[in-house]
Amino acid sequence: MLLRYQLREVASVNNGLYSVADAHCDTIYEIVKQSKQLKKNDLKVSLEKLLTYEHYVQFFALWVDDAETAPFASVLQMLDIFYEELEKNKENLCHILKASDFKKTFDEKKVGALLTVENGKALMGSCDNLRLLYEKGVRGITLTWNGANELGDGALTENGGGLNDFGREVIYEMNRLGMLIDVSHLSEQGFWDVLHVSDFPIMASHSNAARLTPHPRNLKDEQLSALATCGGVVGLNLYPAFLSTNGKADLDDCVRHLKHMLSVCGENGIALGSDFDGFNGAMPEGLNDAGDYGKLFWTLKKAGWSETLIQKLTCDNLIRFASCIIK
Ligand SMILES: [Zn+2]
Repeated sequence: MLLRYQLREVASVNNGLYSVADAHCDTIYEIVKQSKQLKKNDLKVSLEKLLTYEHYVQFFALWVDDAETAPFASVLQMLDIFYEELEKNKENLCHILKASDFKKTFDEKKVGALLTVENGKALMGSCDNLRLLYEKGVRGITLTWNGANELGDGALTENGGGLNDFGREVIYEMNRLGMLIDVSHLSEQGFWDVLHVSDFPIMASHSNAARLTPHPRNLKDEQLSALATCGGVVGLNLYPAFLSTNGKADLDDCVRHLKHMLSVCGENGIALGSDFDGFNGAMPEGLNDAGDYGKLFWTLKKAGWSETLIQKLTCDNLIRFASCIIK
């Protein structure tokens, strides 16, 4: 636990000191569902909050529930709303389509938005749909959600089978197009299959260390190590159930997981993947929404992390990883 005086100090952190790149949030889904605005809202992520930082790149996931009966149409609907938001906020928001767009958003002091689809079910078993999503500006796919889909088995399936033929076809095509492959939510066998099949590094956009918090959504040390050895990154998920075994978490639990991920992945393999707006219930104490990230970075500084290491975690690693793939 943080000491009381530290919490007071944490409250006065200046976000403007930090650049952030976050690999996963579900805010667009919530904006569509609750008819909210991206600029100002009571969700965990709003443009207003992201603009308090020096730079901010957010990977916005378009989430498809395993139970969705019209998955492709549902993604198209979220894409429509995203493009409306992009138009309304063009002064402050830039859609990231290729590597050079990262620098452009930084130079123009805009928030960078990279679109991913969470759950390959959206493809409805067709690589044509994958190519259509690419054309519409999607640059990454989380291959499964918790259940099984046309690509393979998710982390919460009973037997946890691997990638199937269509899943392999999707990997080849994503490699060819230059799309980010996300193995968060995939079964362990699926994880190893993807690592074997993909010609490019992969990410686990929002998963933590199973060594500290055993949960099928977290990654074992062998997985973390292999992912990083291949040039991939893992993004810290803020969902308390993935941060501590009793389901309650605070900033220190985030630091604990980050330290462990650092020890296994090395300093180029760690990133952020909040999962903001992706779960209900309590947030880690001290980290209620995207506006609070500065408190985590401050806590890492107090724990002895160098400026360079913090910068790699908070921004540089994810941008480097994505830049070598989306070209
Ligand atoms: Zn998720």
